[in-house]
Amino acid sequence: RCGFVAIVGRPNVGKSTLMNRILGQKISITSRRPQTTRHQVMGIKTEGEAQYIYVDTPGIHILEKDRNKAINRFMNQAATQALRDVDCVVFIIDRTRWTAEDQVVLERLARVEAPVILAVNKVDRLKDKSELLPWLESVGARRDFAAIVPIAAKHGTNVPELEAEVARHL
Ligand code: GDP
Ligand code: MG
Repeated sequence: RCGFVAIVGRPNVGKSTLMNRILGQKISITSRRPQTTRHQVMGIKTEGEAQYIYVDTPGIHILEKDRNKAINRFMNQAATQALRDVDCVVFIIDRTRWTAEDQVVLERLARVEAPVILAVNKVDRLKDKSELLPWLESVGARRDFAAIVPIAAKHGTNVPELEAEVARHL
């Protein structure tokens, strides 16, 4: 079994951190600065007979008003291409902050045919876990996701559970 898994989300939600955590190496640059990843970063994880190709997808978050800058056009194209042929999408958001860029990603994912798993990252900053679903509801991010998995990519919390959901939906 083999599958392409796209990791999507606006800058700073923790895509690179998650990717590095899953692949067990520093393959993708993490930083507080947005757009550290301008090109696609791919990593392959082999587990027994199964092989997962993870793709860190920059550019999917670009707001309409910024679409025409050359660098944004380039990133937007790369993001669109990456989503065309994937088998599963991990949409990652930051529990501490929902923005217009998250909304852009959410809307673009409505057109994706592959199953979309929502990973709610940075839950280490969340004191009361029962607030999670009401919060998703309040920002309008609660839809028919294939699964919703709270994680803390930085600490590895619940990342194996997220990987299990990916395996289940390939
Ligand atoms: P990307 O732009 O989506 O690739 O985000 P990065 O992986 O570069 O992470 C952005 C920032 O969020 C970095 O400072 C990370 O250390 C931090 N970060 C990532 N995951 C977590 C997490 O689970 N908890 C906390 N508190 N911070 C995190
Ligand atoms: Mg990154």
